[in-house]
Formats: sequence, C-alpha cells, structure tokens
Amino acid sequence: MEIERNAVYLVKVGELTLKSGNIKDFEQRLTQNAQLYLEGKNARVRLRAGRMYVEAPEESVPGVEYALSHLVGIAGWARAVIVERDIEAIKKAVYDQGLLARKAGAKTFKVEARRSDKAFPLNSYEIAREAGEALYEEGILAVDVHKPDVTLSVEIRERCFVYGEQHPGHRGLPCGTGGKGLLLLSGGIDSPVAGFRMLSRGMKIDCLYFHSHPYTSPEAQGKVEELAKTLARFGVGTHLNVVPFTKVQERIRDKAPVDYATILLRMCMMKVANMACEMTGAKAIITGESLGQVASQTIENLTVTNGCAAFTVLRPLIGMDKDEIIAVAKRIGTYETSILPYEDCCVLFSPKHPVLRARQDETQEIYDALEIDGLLEEAFQGREHKRFGWKED
Ligand code: ATP
Ligand code: MG
Repeated sequence: MEIERNAVYLVKVGELTLKSGNIKDFEQRLTQNAQLYLEGKNARVRLRAGRMYVEAPEESVPGVEYALSHLVGIAGWARAVIVERDIEAIKKAVYDQGLLARKAGAKTFKVEARRSDKAFPLNSYEIAREAGEALYEEGILAVDVHKPDVTLSVEIRERCFVYGEQHPGHRGLPCGTGGKGLLLLSGGIDSPVAGFRMLSRGMKIDCLYFHSHPYTSPEAQGKVEELAKTLARFGVGTHLNVVPFTKVQERIRDKAPVDYATILLRMCMMKVANMACEMTGAKAIITGESLGQVASQTIENLTVTNGCAAFTVLRPLIGMDKDEIIAVAKRIGTYETSILPYEDCCVLFSPKHPVLRARQDETQEIYDALEIDGLLEEAFQGREHKRFGWKED
C-alpha cells in the first residue's frame, strides 16, 4: 500500500557524485536551484546519498515536473510511489506500475532492484524476480532484459520507492557553480546552444545582442528575446543587453575593405563584450562559432578575434557539426525560434568572399584606421536592458 499522500519524485544527481572536493557546494547549489524553481509550490527538497527527493502536493505536480525538466545538474528523474518495506507491498506496486505502462503502450519490461539497506531479507536479484513475476505470468508484459519498453525500478533505501517511466535530465553541473559567462547571442541556431552548453557546465549566463535598426527588423530582436527567455528557464534567469550597432556597421562598410567586414565586426563585438564583462563581473565570453562552419570561422580568424578579447573566449561548439548542434537546439526548445526567417545584423553587410585567413598585424591596421573605439563606447552606453526569469509564462 502506498504510504505517502504527496507526489514523490526521485532524482538522480549524476556527475555531482564525482566531485569529492567541493561536493558540498555543488549539492547545496543544486538544492537551492531546485527550491528556487519550486517557490510557492509547497514542495520539500532533500538531497541524500546521490539522490534528491522532491515531495509536493498533487496540485503542484505540473510545477514540479516543469522544474525537473529544466534543472541542470541532474541525470534523470521519475515520479515514484513509496510503499512498505515488504515484498508483498513491492510486488503490488510494481504490478500497478506495469499496468500503467501497458496502458501507455509498453509491451516488454524488466525490473531493476537496488537495495542500499542490506538488512532487507531478499537480495536485488530476488526482489526483481519476485516483483515482476505476476506481470509476465498474467501475460500483461513480456520480459526483455536488453531493450525493454519500460524499466520498472525498486529502490530500497530508508524508505522503499517504486517507479516506472524515467525522464532523462540535462546532466552537467548546477547552474551557478561555474562563475558567470557572457553569451554573444544572435538569432541563429548556434549561439543559444553554446549558451546552454556552458550553462550546463554550471555557468550563469548573461546575454549580449547587437542590433542594426533599421537594417534589421524588430522581429529579429524579438527572436533573440525569445531565445534569451528560453535559456533563462534553464539558467535560473538571465539578463539580456541589446546594443545598437548600426553606426558601427556603417563605419565598417564605409571605411574598410569589403572582404574584412565580417572579421572587423567580430572584433568590435569582442571589444563591447569586454565592457559588458567588466560591468557584470562575467569572466568569459561565449560564442556559437564552430570551426570551418562558415568562411569567417577559420582558426586564423578566430585567433584575430581573440586578440580583441580581454577575457577567456569559450566556443563550446567548436568541434561539433551542425546536426549535433541542431539536435541540442531541438531538445532545449530553441530550434523553432532560431529558424524563423528574420536576419540578424551579420548577414546584412557580409561580403561575398570574406577574408579566410586574416593576419593579425594587417587586420589590426585596418581596424585602427576605422577609429571606431569611440563609437563602440557610445554603442555600449546606448544599450537596452531586459531581464528574463526562470518561470514559465
Ligand atoms: P549563430 O547561429 O549563433 O548566429 P552563425 O553560425 O550564424 O552563428 P555567425 O553569424 O558568423 O555564425 O556568428 C558567430 C557568432 O558570433 C555567433 O554564434 C554569436 O555568438 C556571435 N554573433 C553573431 N551575430 C551576433 C549578434 N548580432 N549579436 C550578438 N552576437 C552575435
Ligand atoms: Mg548568425
């Protein structure tokens, strides 16, 4: 018989368990983040021995599931029932979970049992065998230990948990344990994924977007805001600064060789990113560049861009191909927004044949001749600020 009226969730915390040195900080942050998501939901969060337990009243279930599907730093989660530590009670609960899985379309199953309490009279193998017996004997589900449609789990700890469907978590480390990074966020597919990558390594992310009204539309900015909002849901909130770059783009167009436009623009972005990092305490600049993906993203050009950055530049997508990037974009829900057709500022003034292997000294000379630093300062001062929270709306 079920002995807990609240909805109970069992959460696997994954990689945290590897960090022996600062595990306490990581655990504390994960718990804090979970509590933040669950504010006002009457939920209780506890972390013990590699597991997080969330208990909340039934009406809070949608809120809890929203939280767990956005929280980074967890390997997976499942809604569980708590039963008496007694094999008959376990058998009944596993049977019920099997029936539910069958209703949802499963045909095959296996039972996985784990007991951290070695005083329990049966071992894991015996528990699994006994608990699953009725389901296959009655022909409700067939056993498949290799690729079952559903795995029914029994965990005997200080209490006994039984659960069916498990949801994968986003893994990584809890947001806020890795310092703060500044994401150069455009409306494309790549940069939101780059932001998510760093976010799931524990970085808190702020975003910076350059627009070029009237060459770029308000819809292009709307896209970026939507993307920032989506990232904010994983990252317990984000700030977006929008910097007007029209004059900068025009200066480059008017005064520089056309094939240098893209790399010069990238250098200007880095300079303004430095200002934003100084203002917000971010310790790194994050971009969505991937080696060789477009003509401007060669190692030579990336090196020249780095020369303008006063902070570490992180390019988490550098070795990923487009299909891998798209798969992540779809998983985190940014893809549909990113493929909307509005152009961001880079596309507008971009040369047909951008310089492929820019040389540092030559490019720097062209940059200096632009006398653009005053414009960059002005652009940064003209920024517009928005804040996005982690809550769904
Ligand atoms: P994305 O899909 O992220 O737009 P991309 O493959 O289109 O990337 P580029 O347009 O060359 O590549 O831009 C490379 C990186 O520069 C982007 O991933 C982003 O980090 C940054 N970036 C480009 N345009 C902007 C912009 N308007 N505002 C802020 N950052 C930008
Ligand atoms: Mg782009």
